[in-house]
Amino acid sequence: MKITTLDFLIDTDAVGILAKITLLVMEKKFTIVERSKEKSKCDKHYHLILSLAYNGEVLTDVIINSLIQELKAIAQVHEVLKTDLNNKNTLLIIGNNIAQKYPDIVGYLNDYTKKLDEDREENKAAILYEVGEMVGKKIAINHYKSLKTDNSIGKALKKIVIPVISPFALAKIIDNELHVSVCPFCMGLNSLKTTPQCDFLTGLISGLINTKQNVRVEEIRCRAQKNPACVFLVSKKYG
Ligand SMILES: [Zn+2]
Repeated sequence: MKITTLDFLIDTDAVGILAKITLLVMEKKFTIVERSKEKSKCDKHYHLILSLAYNGEVLTDVIINSLIQELKAIAQVHEVLKTDLNNKNTLLIIGNNIAQKYPDIVGYLNDYTKKLDEDREENKAAILYEVGEMVGKKIAINHYKSLKTDNSIGKALKKIVIPVISPFALAKIIDNELHVSVCPFCMGLNSLKTTPQCDFLTGLISGLINTKQNVRVEEIRCRAQKNPACVFLVSKKYG
């Protein structure tokens, strides 16, 4: 499923605009899969960001361009721009959505990973890391704001990371490493990989601890490389 993300600039006082857009989009065989509003630089407009899935046969530039032309013709829609899946706004929406779904995030995340694979997204690892980090920061702010970790990585792993991932992963701490023996993010990968694959989880751990301390997280071994556990090394970041 190819996802197209569009960024609309819309009049702040526009009424019923989403219904008009939704109708047009459906006529063109698209479904809205993500939606968010962002402030624009001026008060007169706001950004509406929609991620669309195409239900027709083959999605071509001609189809997208004709959709954009028709959307632009709607009164009170000022601009419609196509943005990338790794655009910062898009990542922010996806990160927010996943954080809201927590702890039921595994299915959603695996679908999102599949989408990136289908789009042959070259920056897949970086995107998943960044989304994971956003989700981690949100969860830490929502649930662990007042917690003290005394600048100890071991304490942060024990008091924040293990409780957060325990609904979907089995993990233990060995020194400053987190050993995840049941990891839902590389579970379906049956071919032997040359590099670790749990970029979302790496970002998630980083986001969770980085609200308290300045650390660097690295997956040094992965079950997708036939290791018994995914191992994440957490170290202090200086400077
Ligand atoms: Zn892994």
